[in-house]
Amino acid sequence: MTQADVATPKRTRDIIAKYGFSFKKSLGQNFLIDQNVLRNIVEAAELDKTKGALEIGPGIGALTQHLAETAGRVTAVEIDQRLIPILHDVFQGTENVHVEHGDVLKLDLRGLLEQQFVGLTGVSVVANLPYYVTTPILMKLLEEKLPLENIVVMIQKEVAVRMAAKPGGKEYGSLSVAVQYYCVPELVCTVPHTVFIPQPNVDSAVIKLKLRDKPPVEVADEDHFFRTVQASFAQRRKTIANNLSAFIGKANRDKVVPLLEGCGIDPARRGETLSIVEFAAVSHALQQAGF
Ligand code: SAM
Repeated sequence: MTQADVATPKRTRDIIAKYGFSFKKSLGQNFLIDQNVLRNIVEAAELDKTKGALEIGPGIGALTQHLAETAGRVTAVEIDQRLIPILHDVFQGTENVHVEHGDVLKLDLRGLLEQQFVGLTGVSVVANLPYYVTTPILMKLLEEKLPLENIVVMIQKEVAVRMAAKPGGKEYGSLSVAVQYYCVPELVCTVPHTVFIPQPNVDSAVIKLKLRDKPPVEVADEDHFFRTVQASFAQRRKTIANNLSAFIGKANRDKVVPLLEGCGIDPARRGETLSIVEFAAVSHALQQAGF
């Protein structure tokens, strides 16, 4: 480390005391204080000086500091105005760190990437995400099809498990399909409560999402595909035939069974057993039938 580590319990408490900072639960402020966890997160992102890192929610800069040492450039987006002067102080003289004040859900991220990472060979998102908006943030990154290599994030363990779940289990759902359509997920590690100040009341995990060059199946209409997936999980205990009947309207329910059979799918199966390829086939067949 070129400067004192931000992420020790003492430094974190000192910074908080110096600036009279108080944590806002509503912004998901649980700061990391463990060097090993920080190193594991950065290592998983496969960064080097030719690559950039977009951090969401730098807090007082614990992860930012590790990223700055490993990546060519770091841009950190922080919503909380009270943290901006702290970050400017912590990174005064650190030329490869840029702090952007804003709500990541409202920012033009494509524009920010184009502006901040000129000349680098790739960009990854690396963050200890605010848990209250994990899914909206990740879906924004994926749906906007941003030119990213990896997304490595600390999130609630239960959400990480759902993102990485395979068909056939109760964790597999529309979030698993959406994430795996765009990425190959890998659970990096689980993390105890004790590595945060203040400690969250849920378990945490680091997940790595490697962006695919192209989806695992060709889908003509992504919007229809995702609506079909959502509908298939609408009532988890119902069969795929029943869920899809509700989707296309009761008057057309007699069309669902032959349509599923035409795709080689037993209508008595539940949504949670279907693969991405099978969902794509169902969506395509529904569209061909005019639904
Ligand atoms: N990276 C720091 C660390 O690991 O110690 C802090 C992580 S803390 C879990 C989440 C951070 O995200 C907080 O600093 C919070 O203010 C910020 N945040 C919350 N919502 C945000 C949003 N919509 N856009 C940008 N930052 C946000």
